[in-house]
Amino acid sequence: MILRAVAYPAHPQKGIIRTVARENPCLACGACCAFFRVSFYWGETTDSPEGTVPAHLTENITPFVRAMKGTDRKQPHCVALEGDVGQTVRCHIYENRPSPCRDFAVDFVDGQVVASPEDHERCSRARARYNLLPIEVDTMKTIIENKRR
Ligand code: SF4
Ligand code: SF4
Repeated sequence: MILRAVAYPAHPQKGIIRTVARENPCLACGACCAFFRVSFYWGETTDSPEGTVPAHLTENITPFVRAMKGTDRKQPHCVALEGDVGQTVRCHIYENRPSPCRDFAVDFVDGQVVASPEDHERCSRARARYNLLPIEVDTMKTIIENKRR
């Protein structure tokens, strides 16, 4: 989900995938924001005193679960995603995006895309919907670090 510029939380037990990239591929993608349902605990929204996700951009799934508007449908497209998928995109609530977006383990760090195998697979599925190649094919080379212990 629109890559984070933060340190990647390691998944040492499952290994990580590193892909050398010229630039952050998410900024020209956005496929995952227009592929998955993005749902989370209602307390993350501004309807709660501690919440930060703008409540008016969410909808009820259950009394306790919200989804980003536009993502609970057959062909999801998050209401917060600006631009055209596969072209130039931006999350206009990036600083206040919900936990599923923050936790999506695909990051761009020091010229490398760093991903957990699970989220790399999700990323590839989302990109395929929009005829975008998986990151490692689309960029220069892939180094798979097998850190299974
Ligand atoms: S589908 Fe992958 S490359 Fe595209 S925005 Fe999401 S994490 Fe980034
Ligand atoms: S809130 Fe932002 S990062 Fe999360 S799905 Fe929507 S556009 Fe993507």
